[in-house]
Parts: sequence; C-alpha cells; structure tokens
Amino acid sequence: MSDNPHLLPEVKKHYGRITNFVNNEFVESDAERHLDVTNPATNETIAQVPLATAEEVDRVVQAAAEAFEEWRETPPHYRTQPFYRLKVLMEKNYEEIARVLVQEHGKVIDEARGSVRRAIDNIEFACSIPSLMMGETLEDGAAAGIDEEVIRQPVGVFACVAPFNFPAMVPFWFWPAAVACGNTYVVKPSEQVPITQNYIFRLIQEAGFPDGVVNMVNGDKETVTALLTHPLIRGISFVGSTPVGRIIYDTGSTHHKRVQCQAGAKNYVTVMPDANLDACLPNMISSFFGNTGQRCLAGANLVLVGDGANRMVERFVEAARRIRMGYGLDETVQMGPVISHRSRQRILGFIEQGLAQGGKLLLDGRNPKVEGYAEGAFVGPTIFDQVTPDMPIVKEEIFGPVVTILRVKSLAEAIDLVNGSPYGNASSIYTTSGKAARQYRYRVNAGNIGVNLGIAAPMAFFPFGGQKDSFFGDLHGQAKDGINFCTDRKVVITRWV
Ligand code: NAD
Repeated sequence: MSDNPHLLPEVKKHYGRITNFVNNEFVESDAERHLDVTNPATNETIAQVPLATAEEVDRVVQAAAEAFEEWRETPPHYRTQPFYRLKVLMEKNYEEIARVLVQEHGKVIDEARGSVRRAIDNIEFACSIPSLMMGETLEDGAAAGIDEEVIRQPVGVFACVAPFNFPAMVPFWFWPAAVACGNTYVVKPSEQVPITQNYIFRLIQEAGFPDGVVNMVNGDKETVTALLTHPLIRGISFVGSTPVGRIIYDTGSTHHKRVQCQAGAKNYVTVMPDANLDACLPNMISSFFGNTGQRCLAGANLVLVGDGANRMVERFVEAARRIRMGYGLDETVQMGPVISHRSRQRILGFIEQGLAQGGKLLLDGRNPKVEGYAEGAFVGPTIFDQVTPDMPIVKEEIFGPVVTILRVKSLAEAIDLVNGSPYGNASSIYTTSGKAARQYRYRVNAGNIGVNLGIAAPMAFFPFGGQKDSFFGDLHGQAKDGINFCTDRKVVITRWV
C-alpha cells in the first residue's frame, strides 16, 4: 500500500491499523474484526480500522471515569487552557486535516476546509465556558433572608457516535463543550472515515489534556452498543440516520442515559415566483449538490410555486450539468464521489425505481465519465421531473446528488407539502417577499430554516435544530443546549441564622 502514488504523506503516516486513544496514548486495538477504509475517488484501500469489542470499550470508559473527579475539580478557566492550545494546533494543521479528510471521504477540498473551520468554531465556543457555565442567584429568592441559587455541575462520562459525512466536524459539536464543563469523554468516529479523527487526536494529545479526559474508540454497532449499555456512560450524542437514531435513543434511554439524536433528513427547498434567481441560483446548486448531496442540510426536493418559478428549471438543470466532477484534492473540482460503491448502488437503485414509477430524468447522473478515476464511486447530478409526493424518491432520504422537482400553485400548498414529510431537519425558501418568508418560518415544521440560502447550518453558538424524525431528544447539539445537556442544574437555598 505504501507505494500507492495517489496517497499523500499525511495519509501514509496512518498506514496500517487505526488505533484507539486512551489516557493520552494511542493504543493498538485487540479487536479481531477490522474494516478496510477506502478512498472513494480511487477505490484504493488506505487504512484498516479496528472494530472494538465491549471489553475494549470498558477499558476506555473506565479511564474516562477515573479522570472525571480531578477534571471536574479543575477550575473552568484552567480547563479551557488545552482548548486554546488545540485551537492553535488545529489552525496550524488546518490544511493537512482537510487533505486527509478528502482522501478518506471524497468531498472537495474547499468543503473539507469549511468543515474543519466549523470544528474550530466549537473549540472557540468551549473557551467561553467560564462565562457560559455560570449559575444564577436571587437574594431573598425564597423569603426574606433566604437566598436561592442554581449552580451548574458536570455529570460524568459522555460519548458521541458520529456519521461518515463530516469526519472532522461532527464530534466537535459535542465534546469540547462537554469537556470544558468538566465532563470526560469518549469519541466514536464513523468506521467509514476514521483517519481524520485519528489525525486530530494527535493534536489533542499535543494540546495536553490530562490523562483520560478525551478518549477515542473505533468500531461499529457492536462498539456503540457497548457504549449505550455501559453503566458509567451518562450521556450519548448521536448523529446519523433515522433508523439507527431510533435504536440509539431507545437503547440509551432504556439504560438511563441522557440521549440526543440528530438523525436523517429529506429537505424541501421552495422557490417563489418572485425569487431573485440571479442572486440565488449558485447557492441553490450548492445546497442540492454540495458534498455530493451527502449533507443532512442538503436540498433534496425542489418545490416550485406558481407558473413563474418554472422559468428556473432550465437554468437549474444547465447549472447542474456544468458541475465538474473529479478528485476532491483538485482545486477546480466541484463535486466528488459518494462515500462508497455500496452507497452508489443504493442511490442508483432509487433512480431506477423513480424511472420505473414514471419519473422523467432531466439530468441523468448514472454513468458519469470522470477522467482518470474510472474506479471511483461517482454519481453525477441527477434531476427528476414528473414525480408525485408519494414516490420513494421524493419521500425517502437518498443521501446523494438526486433532486426531484415538484410544482404547486401557492405558498400554502408548498408549506403543506413540506409539512407532510416525516422528516424536519431543514427547509429553505427563496423569495423577495418578507411576508412569504415570515409565513414560511412561522409554519414550516423543520428545525433549521433558510431564507434565500439553501444550507441553514447553525454556527457553534446556536443549537443545531431538527424536528420530527430528524431529531430524537429535547436538547440539541451545540450552544446553550449542549451545555444544558451535559450539566446538572443544582438548586441551593441558603439561610444564615
Ligand atoms: P449511520 O446511521 O449509518 O451511522 C452513524 C453511526 O452509527 C456510525 O458511527 C455507526 O458506527 C453507528 N451505527 C450504525 N448502525 C448502528 C447500529 N445498528 N447500532 C448502533 N450504532 C450503529 O449514518 P451514516 O450513514 O454514517 O451518516 C449519514 C446519516 O447521518 C444520514 O442519514 C444523514 O442525514 C445523517 N446526518 C444527520 C445530521 C444531523 O445533524 N441531523 C448531520 C449529519 C448526518
């Protein structure tokens, strides 16, 4: 493998098996099961990931539990110091992290850079914990001379289970806030893309968190089940598909843990006849085809309101046709492969089904020619017209660059269509009417709403929304929600006599 000319030095460093990270050391896994990690653009194996057993999970969790008492007694403004160092290290290695990420995931380099930036944003947020974690006091709150206060305390060991589509960013939605609050942590990266976190953990090691405070275990569902049922894990943050989210929510809560599950999506983008297409078309294209459609915030169904909006179809198809596909490390490439050949086959299955049910392809991405990458898992931009809301290509999450076009007569009809979906992750409206935009944000049942932008991605200081089958739990990831999730609010009532 090490003679492979496509591999850059950053990934070569990780040849062989990916390790776990416990007590500030990289530890060889003793797992018997392993998976190959593949570069989806070239179809070459670039690493092997161990699938940790329950015994290994137990060792990692025990280490985190042992570290908890001392870490929670470390004053918050000391706890933030390794985060400042980690921020500097992430900035210094920013480009290299993005390049590693492209090689295991396939997204284009600029999108990889953007996602590393979002990870760093969450470190910066965690640096404000001394202010964010403060409690509240009310003198004479209970009665004259009796004061009442709420103090916030960390809870114990938390873990996150991450999806494949944002290998650097997603764990950072959770662990920096939890650890800065005084909890200790176990990260479980996606087994499809473990190299990026392995790389980042080298920086976490250098940042100098005390032993056992931030740990990593690699694996699949067996590993996750061991985390979900471990008595010392107090809370689980999950990001992934809806069917798995349900399992995580049910199993985690049955085992008396706090659980937050950010799950799957099927997002509607509504275009009003008055939308400013010149200003909005590039942004729409990025919503539907960015990250090769593998974003939980990606547009999937394009809803055109009234006859006027039809004028955009031709332009939308033309813009999609011009998207340049290829290897994500090439700066001129606009769309990479999907994550794997297995995923490609699943997406092609949806397209065949859509055709069999009477859908018409305005753009067919089934056999894209990508020069130099014949073995890659590529699916080109695909646009369906003449579909109905009950077809699986409209209702189900495809997680690829496949768009359906739906036509309605009015905004009210569009909102009913959007709200008919079992999912509620994100939805966007393109319009120049403030009244229409307000109606949309008021009535649409989705957790992240975009007005004249197609990827409503909340910054680190806002919670990441999600409703219906796109989210199980009550407190979301990031921001104050994240802090509430991983702390207890204790009430103290004091009378001095
Ligand atoms: P996935 O559900 O297949 O896997 C996610 C994680 O769950 C992985 O770490 C995997 O090891 C683990 N897992 C898989 N099966 C399991 C099981 N039976 N029991 C326990 N753990 C199991 O998701 P994916 O394909 O990696 O990621 C894509 C999905 O993630 C899409 O549905 C996408 O919409 C969703 N997603 C949601 C958000 C959000 O914020 N709502 C963000 C990103 C991605």
